[in-house]
Amino acid sequence: MSDRYLDFTNSSFGKTLAGMIGLPTPPRLKRASAPWAAQPLEGKYVLVGSSSGATLAAPLLRALSAAGAALRIIPEHAGLPPLKAAAAELKLSLHGNPAEGVGEARNHALVFDASGLSSPWQLRELYDFMQPVLRGIASNGRILLISRAPESAADIQARTASTALRGFIRSLAKEVGKNGTTANLVEVPTGADTAIDPVLRFFLSEHSAFVDGQVLPLALPQTANVALPGSLEGRIALVTGAARGIGASIAETLAREGAKVIGMDHPSAEGGLGETMAKIGGVGLALDVTAPDAAARIAEEVGKSFGGLDVVVHNAGITRDKMLRNMPPHFWDMVVNINLGAILKINEGLLKQGFNDGARVVCISSIGGIGGNAGQTNYGATKAGVIGYVDGMAATFAKRGGAINAVAPGFIETTMTAAMPFGPREVGRRINSLSQGGLPQDVAETVTFLASPAANAVNGRTLRVCGQNFFGM
Ligand code: NAP
Repeated sequence: MSDRYLDFTNSSFGKTLAGMIGLPTPPRLKRASAPWAAQPLEGKYVLVGSSSGATLAAPLLRALSAAGAALRIIPEHAGLPPLKAAAAELKLSLHGNPAEGVGEARNHALVFDASGLSSPWQLRELYDFMQPVLRGIASNGRILLISRAPESAADIQARTASTALRGFIRSLAKEVGKNGTTANLVEVPTGADTAIDPVLRFFLSEHSAFVDGQVLPLALPQTANVALPGSLEGRIALVTGAARGIGASIAETLAREGAKVIGMDHPSAEGGLGETMAKIGGVGLALDVTAPDAAARIAEEVGKSFGGLDVVVHNAGITRDKMLRNMPPHFWDMVVNINLGAILKINEGLLKQGFNDGARVVCISSIGGIGGNAGQTNYGATKAGVIGYVDGMAATFAKRGGAINAVAPGFIETTMTAAMPFGPREVGRRINSLSQGGLPQDVAETVTFLASPAANAVNGRTLRVCGQNFFGM
């Protein structure tokens, strides 16, 4: 469903009118229209900064330069020594940030290495870096902080400082969303330094347009690093609920990156499934996720033509909303069986037979499982359960060189949300930092990133794709 308010306020008349009467103008987000590029930051300026004593400068600069970024610094900034030392070692040029209004291209991204923070007072280095340059960031820009996880801090002062970054980034994201800019924080454990390359590429590119205000703690990678572009080429991927909506978009995006997709959906959706699979050269499997033999049937069908599965996306999901006091038992059972029970049973079966070594699983949760919704005790329970499940299963998948993660979408423009009454739909769309609903593609881009073996330092996590929805923050 199209967002008429966004279209109107982005027309020249609409923009003027909205400005005159003080209405908000949701930005038009730039989304990816091509596969992961070798140099997604080519021709773009990235202003980098660091805290004194930062330890991630070398992998950070290496990744940015490999992605094609032109690197800028603020020459008088106090935290520069680690960046300068790393640039000298890597033989990279750092250019001074031009004064505002001198006609130079704006910065696409501001990236700050906060890994050296040792006390709350040192946060002042972050303020000194960000405060003067925020106005000069391009629309649809990116702000990214990288830091060490608070849990691994040497002492209480360092731990306090790195925890403070979470509040900083969530607040900053709410300030900069008006022009489509996102702000996120990645926490890197010692031992995962060189695994940040694909993570930076994702967060700094158009593939993450609706991922905002998030904190992503990385895990220790269990496998060698792999370049993101081309990493899904020839991989065998199963997507449940692939006939339409978010599932169809996930299937298309995985195929765009070179995966061979098996789309699975309820037998009643076979027609739609056939159409979606025909578009991407995929294979349809008409099967109910709750069928008692679902895992065995999947393993058998996939085994015949492809051997085993490298990727499984558990996307099939339903709502059956009613206040708990009025909820019939079959509403409860259907939602629990499809949204949660089927995921557990299918994975259990595929772990015995069906997954290749290194298999990566992505489950679809929801912000309804984080913030809760009146009338959705069944749905909220299942979507929160998914978050606990991926956390609890991470070690099992890591032992096999793979991973399991979840994506929690916010308000996404689908037939499900188009069916909402006008008032709640408009509110649902606007209560996030980007003042609009996401598209199925936004969820699909994040799922596809997590499905890639390049995301080898992301395991057991739930990443929200919600434009920083104000729900359950
Ligand atoms: P959708 O348009 O209703 O698509 C869901 C698909 O799953 C449908 O093709 C459906 O087939 C299929 N499905 C349902 N039950 C099945 C079963 N037992 N076995 C196999 N397939 C089954 O939903 P969507 O909006 O794309 O949502 C996809 C996922 O994202 C869900 O897990 C949902 O909870 C989650 N999510 C969506 C939003 C949003 O804003 N749309 C927000 C947060 C989370 P049928 O046609 O037969 O029903």
